[in-house]
Amino acid sequence: MIKKNIVVIGSGLTGLTSAHYFNKANADFIVLEKKDTYGGVIQTVTENGFVFENGPNTGVLGTVEIAELFEEVADECKLELADETSNKRYILKTGKWEAIPSGLIGGIKTPLFTLKDKFRLLLEPFRKKGTNPHETLAELVKRRMGQSFLDYAVDPFILGVYSGDPNYLVPKYALPKLYNLEQDYGSFIGGSIKKGFEKKDDQSKKVTRKVFSAEGGLSNLTKALFKSAGQENFIFNAGNIQISKVDKGYLVKYENNGQISEIQADKIITTTDSFELENLLPFIPKEKMAKITNLKYARVIEIVLGFENWEGIELDGFGGLIPFKENRDVLGFLFLSSFLKNKAPKNGALLTLFVGGTRKDYLNDLSDDEIKKLVEKETKDLMGIKEFNPKLFKIFRYKKAIPQYGVTSGERFDTVEEIEKTNKGLYIGGNHKDGIGMADRAKQGKTLAYNALQYISNSLD
Ligand SMILES: Cc1cc2nc3c(=O)[nH]c(=O)nc-3n(C[C@H](O)[C@H](O)[C@H](O)COP(=O)(O)OP(=O)(O)OC[C@H]3O[C@@H](n4cnc5c(N)ncnc54)[C@H](O)[C@@H]3O)c2cc1C
Repeated sequence: MIKKNIVVIGSGLTGLTSAHYFNKANADFIVLEKKDTYGGVIQTVTENGFVFENGPNTGVLGTVEIAELFEEVADECKLELADETSNKRYILKTGKWEAIPSGLIGGIKTPLFTLKDKFRLLLEPFRKKGTNPHETLAELVKRRMGQSFLDYAVDPFILGVYSGDPNYLVPKYALPKLYNLEQDYGSFIGGSIKKGFEKKDDQSKKVTRKVFSAEGGLSNLTKALFKSAGQENFIFNAGNIQISKVDKGYLVKYENNGQISEIQADKIITTTDSFELENLLPFIPKEKMAKITNLKYARVIEIVLGFENWEGIELDGFGGLIPFKENRDVLGFLFLSSFLKNKAPKNGALLTLFVGGTRKDYLNDLSDDEIKKLVEKETKDLMGIKEFNPKLFKIFRYKKAIPQYGVTSGERFDTVEEIEKTNKGLYIGGNHKDGIGMADRAKQGKTLAYNALQYISNSLD
């Protein structure tokens, strides 16, 4: 049996970020990963001149922590920001792509929203703030902005980020920044304007809405973190991990190459999906664990298309999202080669599209052949190509892709906190709390490391 101060479970972006900070602090730690490699859902592939992702494609520099992570590994991995000249975002309305307006004139002219709702929007700053913390996103947006903003702005955005349903997601948990704009400033518009004028320190200036990837693909970020965390601090193919409480801390049992191994640890950090926790932490009472594992996930199919010669519509933007109301079988298209470098051969195009999500969950049951037919039809209809002849056609299925922060989230967050309080040295991370995006994961990974090391703020900087 070996002894370690800290055991981290999982080597996705969250676990890698914690490991990066542990190594920086010379901590005594080990990462156990059930798969044979690191990165979790972040996996970049190069094939036939295309560079594509199996999982997340781009993130938003929405936390200080993700910006600083890139700064800290800059020698090994270069941050790539989306090309600003291809920054249009499209929404499908009655079968036609409409650009999301940016300025006032565009906002007045756009056919995406009704005239009535455009006038209603002028009164948004004067509307009373909501009092129900469990109001759904759909209710909140209808109340403040109107049905057409829900249908043709928020709904497609939610399909793009959560593959989810605004009637299920609760903004207090799923979109806390938006929720707080209303709670703190009384208005989305007024709050955004006031926030824009607030003085920012150097750290908060790093938080932007800029879209990022890494040069050569997101795996270059996880590769750099793996290196900075120290490759010797990882054990892969660690199966059937079970943790029990012992006199002084925890005993971690796992299988590796047919052998059972044990680690005695003072502190445990889990970074897995919530549904893994029941097996990992059998000492947690079942009724408590159920409040964490009842978290609903969206099933999603991600399809990557690579064309050697693109002859469809002009790919002059970030991509197009498809509102549920349009009743199509695709959630949206990302025009990756138009805003990231070296994704496709010259004159070619790399597109990624998504199918399924919580509102069209049944599509996840289609066979690969059925998916191919569906994608061919939708791509011809919506992307203006006559011949469907992609050089690259990849299907990635995720049974539990994106957690849906609904009304039970408050209880889940409280339960995690309570379990951590009653089990000293246990830190339950992962995307069941603190946000779903890569920027959130980097923030949580760093916070977990700080908490486990009981460092006072910024002592690692
Ligand atoms: C299809 C898809 C598309 C996405 N798109 C975006 C996007 O465009 N932008 C964005 O910001 N975010 C996106 N996300 C979310 C983003 O990918 C995640 O927030 C982030 O990468 C998750 O990192 P993680 O480390 O928390 O989890 P994971 O990447 O899931 O890593 C968890 C790790 O733990 C390991 N593990 C699990 N159980 C055990 C166990 N019992 N024992 C040992 N190891 C275990 C897993 O093998 C894995 O390596 C997307 C997610 C998916 C699935």
